[in-house]
Amino acid sequence: NGANKITYLKYNIVVMGDPFVGKSSIIERYVHGKYGPCYLQTIGTDYFKKELEIEANPILLYIFDTAGQEDMKTVIRSIYRNAQGILLVFDFSRHQTLRHIREWIDLIRMNCEVMPELLLVGNKVDLKDLKVTEDEAKLMAESLDIRFIKASAKKNQNITESFEQLAKQIFTNR
Ligand code: GDP
Repeated sequence: NGANKITYLKYNIVVMGDPFVGKSSIIERYVHGKYGPCYLQTIGTDYFKKELEIEANPILLYIFDTAGQEDMKTVIRSIYRNAQGILLVFDFSRHQTLRHIREWIDLIRMNCEVMPELLLVGNKVDLKDLKVTEDEAKLMAESLDIRFIKASAKKNQNITESFEQLAKQIFTNR
C-alpha cells in the first residue's frame, strides 16, 4: 500500500573544505543535534539522510562527508561529481582555510559537468581569536559569486540555516 508514501525530491549534498575546519562537526550537529569529540568518524563514502521541507515540498538530503579524504582528491571526486549542492567550509581561526576555498572551487569546476550550487560557510565563529574578518569572508564570497554564512557547529549557530539555504538554492535553480 503506497497510499501514504511521500515522494521526496532528493538532493546530494557534499561538505568540503580543508582538514579540521569542522565538516564532520557540522554534519553531526545538523543530522544528530550533537556536538563533541565522540562522533563516529566517517570514512569512505558514508552519507547521512535528513528530511526537510521547502515551500511545502518534502526534500530528502543525502549528506556526504569528505573529512579525512581531503588529500585523496580522486576519492572525493566521485562523491562531489554527483552533488547538486556543496557546502564549502572554512575555519574563522585559520586564514589559509579561506584562501584555499578558491582551490576547492577549481577542483569542482574541473570535475563537475554541471556546476553544483555552492554556499560558503565560515565555521567556528564562536572562537575568541578569529583570524578572518567578516569583511574578508564577504569579499571572498562576492568575488566567487556565491553566498556566505557564518556558523558555529559548537554553539549550533546557523547550521540548520546553512543546509536549508543550500537546499533552497537547489530547489530554486533546478
Ligand atoms: P573536519 O576535519 O573538517 O571534519 O573537522 P572536525 O569536525 O573533525 O573538527 C575539527 C576540530 O574543530 C575538532 O576539534 C572540533 O571539535 C573543532 N570544531 C568543529 N566545529 C567547531 C566550532 O564550531 N567551534 C569550535 N570552537 N570548534 C569547532
